[in-house]
Formats: sequence, structure tokens, C-alpha cells
Amino acid sequence: MRNFKDCRTANSPAEAVVMLTTGPGQGCFLAGGTNINRACPDCDFLVDITQAGLSGIDGSPEGDVLIGATTSLQECLDSGVLKDFAGGAISWVAGQYRNRDIRTSATIGGNLCHALPSADMAPVLMVLGAVCIIIDEDSQESVPLEDFFVLPGQTVLDSRLLAGLVLPGRAGRWQCQSHKLTRSAEGVALVQVAVALEVIDGIIHLARIALGGVGPTPLRCHLAEQLLTDLKVAEMTPELVEDVALIAASECDPADDDLASAEYRTDMVRVFTRRLICRVLAEEGMDECPESDPVDDDHGGAA
Ligand SMILES: Cc1cc2nc3c(=O)[nH]c(=O)nc-3n(C[C@H](O)[C@H](O)[C@H](O)COP(=O)(O)OP(=O)(O)OC[C@H]3O[C@@H](n4cnc5c(N)ncnc54)[C@H](O)[C@@H]3O)c2cc1C
Repeated sequence: MRNFKDCRTANSPAEAVVMLTTGPGQGCFLAGGTNINRACPDCDFLVDITQAGLSGIDGSPEGDVLIGATTSLQECLDSGVLKDFAGGAISWVAGQYRNRDIRTSATIGGNLCHALPSADMAPVLMVLGAVCIIIDEDSQESVPLEDFFVLPGQTVLDSRLLAGLVLPGRAGRWQCQSHKLTRSAEGVALVQVAVALEVIDGIIHLARIALGGVGPTPLRCHLAEQLLTDLKVAEMTPELVEDVALIAASECDPADDDLASAEYRTDMVRVFTRRLICRVLAEEGMDECPESDPVDDDHGGAA
């Protein structure tokens, strides 16, 4: 266990940023603390942001949803607002943290800011168009989540604070499905896939596919998305869905490691992209997609 020299408690987001830059030495924000030893190996002091007023999930009259950065994953799972948003896809992913103790402490902001390629919350938030609200001492910036990640363990933040995420109200009406493939119930994701489609009058107006665990950062599959956009659901065929899934698989860049080979991960992207698109299209009336049956392994599923 790392022995940090000091821990300061911030009472507002601006105070947290000032405390972090005051020194002496290098500071690190502390949220749920479930990954602090790994995420901040060289830190001298911590700035506790759990009292900075960044917790909670609120819907605006326009339908946008604001999730505070220190909102726990258990709160995401229990939230009535999120249950009604995009079929409860975000709540479903939060529930995939099988360890309830971790889920109660771990925050949505901490999950994204640690910037692991397999950060559980990233793909589903990406396909739903989440925008990060980033706070500096005297300024605020909005950055789409897909532009937030730079490298494994690195985001665009530097010493700034992630205050929260805004989900556009329009996305609340999208069909969204997600899958996490793991080797064990509490294991790290080998592959994550999230799919969101906006279907209006039988036409796919917007398609988003995002992946986790198969590249240096969570990523979007723009080519596969383009292939789906503007297609009529009635004209979709299983072969076309397979083509989209193959393109998505060609857009990832996984590594070989102790858990799985790059080849296996790439093929699982193809398999789960196809299954999730089929499942969404089945909701929209396409009945010939052979993969619309529930995912049948022990550690996966979809919202
Ligand atoms: C037993 C166990 C099981 C786990 N299971 C999973 C899992 O299934 N899926 C998964 O994705 N992860 C998992 N994790 C990893 C971890 O718990 C999560 O990533 C968690 O969401 C991190 O959130 P936290 O609030 O604890 O972050 P912390 O540990 O407090 O912080 C993590 C990093 O993010 C920074 N940070 C936190 N909040 C902010 C902010 N608002 N602005 C700027 N920087 C910030 C911190 O400075 C630190 O660098 C697991 C960890 C453990 C120990």
C-alpha cells in the first residue's frame, strides 16, 4: 500500500484544482480510491474530491442528463433517470461491476480518468454521445468523450478536473446494447462492444459502435458506422450485418497478452458487434437476424 504524505479535502471543484496545483510535490485527485495506488504511483499528496459537490444524476427539462464525476457506479445502477435513458444501457454496464463493495466506492469519473483501454463505462457512454465537462482554475471546457483518451493511463486532463458528463437528451431515445466479455465474473474486460442506433420511420439515421479493450484507448468504429447509416431496417440482411461487424473488427488494434490473443479479441469484436446490431434491429422489427438470441455465456449480456 502506498503511503501518501498528505490528503486534502476540497469543498468545490475550483478549490480542488487549486489544491492540486499548490504542491509541494505532485498531487493526484482522489475519488472512490479503488484504483488510486495503481493510477498514482508517483504522487506525494491526494486531493479528495468526494465533498466537492460533483455527485448526482440530474435530468434537464430539455432531456439532457448530467452525471457528476463522483457519482458511484452503484448510484448509476440504481438511478431512475438512467433506467429511462436509452433503455437503461448505462445502468446495465454499471451493474457489470460484479463486486458490490467496489461498485459502491468506484466513481464514473474515476473509471474514465484512469483511462484504462478496458474502462467499463467508456464504450456505452461514447455511443450515447457523452460530453466531458472539464474544469480548470478559472475556465471550463466541453470535450466529447471520444476525444478524452490519449494513451493508456493518459487523458486530455493534465492537472484539470473532470466535473461530470452530459448526455444529450436525443440519445435517451436510441436503442442501445452493450456487451462485456471477461474470463471471470469480476475480471477485466477482454473485449467490450457498445452499439447505439437511432431509427426513425424504419431508417437508421445514426449509428454508433464503440469498443473497449482492443486498442490503446476505447475507440469508435467510424467506418462500420458509416456502412449502417441511412439504411432501411426492412432492407437489412444478416449478410449485411456480418459485413458491418467485419469492418468493425478491422478497425480495432488489440494486443496479445496473458489473457487473450489479438486474433481472439478481434474475432470477438466481430461476433459481439453482429449480435448487438441484430438485437437492436430485432427491437426495430427485423426478424431474420440469426444472432438476435440472448448472448449465452456466463459473464455477458446486454441492456
Ligand atoms: C476488485 C476491483 C474490481 C474492479 N473491477 C473493475 C471492473 O469490472 N471494470 C472496470 O472498468 N474497472 C474495475 N476496477 C477498477 C476501478 O475500480 C474503476 O476503474 C473505478 O471506476 C475507478 O474509480 P475511483 O472513483 O475508485 O477512482 P480513483 O481510484 O479514486 O482514481 C482513479 C484515477 O482517476 C483520477 N480521477 C478520479 N476522478 C477524477 C476526476 N473527477 N477528475 C480527474 N481525475 C480523476 C485519480 O486521480 C486517479 O488517477 C476494479 C478495481 C478493483 C480494485
